[in-house]
Order: sequence, then C-alpha cells, then structure tokens
Amino acid sequence: MDAMPALFVTHGAPTLVLEDHPAARFLERLSGLLPRPRAILVASAHLEALRPVLTAGERPPTVHDFAGFPAALSAIRYPAPGDPALARRAADLLAAAGFAAELDPAAGFDHGVWVPLALAWPAADVPVVALSVVPSRDAAFHLRLGEALRPLRADGVLILGSGSLTHNLGAVRWNEAEPAPEALAFAAWIADALGRGDRRALADWRELAPFAAWNHPSPEHLLPLHVAVGAGTPGRPGRLLHRSVAHRALVMDVWALD
Ligand code: ZN
Repeated sequence: MDAMPALFVTHGAPTLVLEDHPAARFLERLSGLLPRPRAILVASAHLEALRPVLTAGERPPTVHDFAGFPAALSAIRYPAPGDPALARRAADLLAAAGFAAELDPAAGFDHGVWVPLALAWPAADVPVVALSVVPSRDAAFHLRLGEALRPLRADGVLILGSGSLTHNLGAVRWNEAEPAPEALAFAAWIADALGRGDRRALADWRELAPFAAWNHPSPEHLLPLHVAVGAGTPGRPGRLLHRSVAHRALVMDVWALD
C-alpha cells in the first residue's frame, strides 16, 4: 500500500459546515479520494502555542472557539476518539528531531479540526490527534515539524494541515463571489511553488510571495501548509485537489502532498 498522502485543507469560516459552497461539497467527497486512514493528525491554525502541543486525551471535547455565529454551529459535536498512543509516538518523533513537544490530555478539538473533519469523515469513527502551530516560530520550523512526523504516513496516519490559503479577514465580504485580486495573486504564487516542490521558496514566503502581509496579517493560518509540505516527500510536487473562493478573500485550496 502506498503511504498516506499529507493534506493541506482550507477550513474557511466556521459556518462552512452549514454553507452551500463548492469547498464544502468537495470536502464531503474527500474521504473517497483517499485510503481509509488509521488515524488523523491535524495541525490546526486555531491551536496556537509556544511549543508543539498534541491532544492526548481518550475523548477530546469539541471546542466552539468562536462567537457571533448561528446557534446551530454551537450545537455541532465531533465525537471522534482521541489516540493517546499516537500522540506519544508523535511526541517521540518530534523529540528525536529536537522539538520539545508537550502532551495535553485535557485539550479538545477546535473548529480548525472539526469543521473539515465533520464534512469529510462525518461518522467521526477515525481517531484524531490535534497538533498546535507555533506562530512565534517561522515557516522553516513548521517544515521541519512536518518532516519529523513524516514516518507516521507509512503507518496509515493522515497528516492534515488545517488553515487557510489566504486569510485577510478585514477583506472578507460575506457571500461576495468576486475574488480579491490580492488573494488570487498570492494563491498563484503558492501554487507555483508547490507545483515545483520548492520548499526554500515556501520557507521564505513572507519575503517572496506577492501580497504576503495582506493575505496573512498574522501567519498562523498558513503554517499548517508548511507542516503538510514537510510531511510530504521531498522533491514531489503538490497536487491541487480543490480551489474555490469564499467571501471574496478566502481562497479555499485543498492540496495533497504525496
Ligand atoms: Zn480559521
């Protein structure tokens, strides 16, 4: 069996699970494009820490880490089991690569975890471990984080970065279909770098990509992409599985890193 690919998924607004949007319809088909994972390790933009932290509980709670959205959203639970043994194995791999990772038995699944998973694996029967991003550290740090976790793919673990290819919330216009040119230019640059498997360019995205600061006033929604790229096979180009635009400023890319 081929190793499981790594994925980068744009999770959009929390309401994506309720929206009639092409990105939601794509995520509903995603599991059919992959072998069934033994477990899913999600690097989430919404789990921010000063060092890599892994959820290590048997039954992590669903966290509704947002305000001002419909009540139907706060009623959603994603009761996937945790996988404490996988969390320990991931922490060991990270320690071997020089990262001081931490296990948190009380941490839950934030919406960066459960929005895409509720669409793609609605039965919630695949064990899930969430991994923090470390926004105080750079893209190269997150590429190395993904590299350290790459061996898990051979054991059927899906490494999934959940963020947003573009994330200028100030430029979001609710339900406006016409995309912002700054978002499209940035997405085209990222697609070019991924298509060449160019990790050095991706590491230096803030300096090299057009409208980098416009699209990511803070970096936490792009860093899950670097974790996924690091977990991919070096030199292999990324594969764009889905592109659409939501609310003018959110490019809803899904990429596979084989
Ligand atoms: Zn988000």
